Amino acid sequence: NFLLNSPVSDAIISMKNIRSRDYFAAKVRKNKMDCLFCEIIAGNIPSNKLYEDDRVLAFYDINPQAPVHFLVIPKAHIASADAITADNAETVAYIFSLIPALAAKAGLTGGYRVITNCRPDACQSVPHLHFHVLGGAQLADRMA
Ligand code: 5GP
Ligand code: ZN
Repeated sequence: NFLLNSPVSDAIISMKNIRSRDYFAAKVRKNKMDCLFCEIIAGNIPSNKLYEDDRVLAFYDINPQAPVHFLVIPKAHIASADAITADNAETVAYIFSLIPALAAKAGLTGGYRVITNCRPDACQSVPHLHFHVLGGAQLADRMA
């Protein structure tokens, strides 16, 4: 239906932070041309970029959960942490090799937390692998 087939509505749904299992299930059935983060990589949806190269994009989260909150994503479409394999693990390692410099660039002198939410139990709302980097204040002791 219309709601599940429009990039604009995807963005609105995502911005409202609706995280229903039905929405996620619909999203994972779709191909990468319908993926919100692939659209951001393509430049079809604007983002506040922190860093970009040929393999990786880092951009600030539209709904920050800490004073500094950015996302680091591979440009290749990987659905979630569950889809990391020996074939794409090098990209994941490359992302982690960049995170210290990205955290420094974002001013995270006191430390930071790196999180990836995988599938519905973890409330993954965008089915394109992304690492949240959060900091800029003392974060909660509990993670969930
Ligand atoms: P997840 O819930 O899948 O772990 O994380 C998805 C993140 O993407 C959320 O923190 C959400 O705020 C962020 N997000 C959703 N849509 C957009 C968008 O259009 N632009 C940006 N910059 N962040 C987004
Ligand atoms: Zn994607």
